[in-house]
Amino acid sequence: MSLHKDEAIVLSKRACGESDRIIHLFALQAGKVSAIAKGAGKSQKRFMNTLEPFNHIGVEYFEKPGRTMVRIENADLLGANNGIETSIRRACSAAFFAEFVDRLTKEREPHEPLFNALKEFIDLARTRDPAYPDILHYQLLMLDILGYHPNFDTCVCCGAKMEERQRLHFSRERGGILCGACARSLPHKRCAEGLIPGFLAAKAMRGGFADTSLEREAQEIMEGFIIYHIDVDFRSYKLLKKLVF
Ligand SMILES: [Zn+2]
Repeated sequence: MSLHKDEAIVLSKRACGESDRIIHLFALQAGKVSAIAKGAGKSQKRFMNTLEPFNHIGVEYFEKPGRTMVRIENADLLGANNGIETSIRRACSAAFFAEFVDRLTKEREPHEPLFNALKEFIDLARTRDPAYPDILHYQLLMLDILGYHPNFDTCVCCGAKMEERQRLHFSRERGGILCGACARSLPHKRCAEGLIPGFLAAKAMRGGFADTSLEREAQEIMEGFIIYHIDVDFRSYKLLKKLVF
């Protein structure tokens, strides 16, 4: 049995019997880890509320060879989740990104840029209500980090460069924009003016869309992209859509 030290973000927590808790961690060095916290339910003192979702913690855990689940020995708070509970928008969007990381990474696959992106979003959601362009920014960033690269810059078929205002065709299948010539022979969605520039602005964190109908259209594009390329149905996204968007 070996003792490991790491820092981690708590993705989720659930009861296991009366006194134990199963914690899913996204750890900086170890990647996604499932852990048992013995006695975390019985005595508040044992872990002093450090194992709540979205907390950033320092953690020590024991690992047994051949076992997937580790046992948390100690945990201390590096950054509390305070503030996230103050609005549905904050809580739902943080839950969405926790699920995003949970379902799109494999156990024990370290991912420092993704860890930093998740931590950054949680820090943002602790201090203010994330607007749709903030959520989109982190969605695009995480997709890029994971290698999906939705392309809003050049034609995904022929590589042509275009002015922002000429970027009007989006191919879900090819995962990006098409130039006018390629759009004539390939299936695509015709985008409203200002839609792709809005994506570019959100990606660069310099604003977003001119109105909510463009935001809706952006959401549809992202939903189509994710279903087609990733094929994961995020439970928390449904909630986000129902309660927030
Ligand atoms: Zn083209």
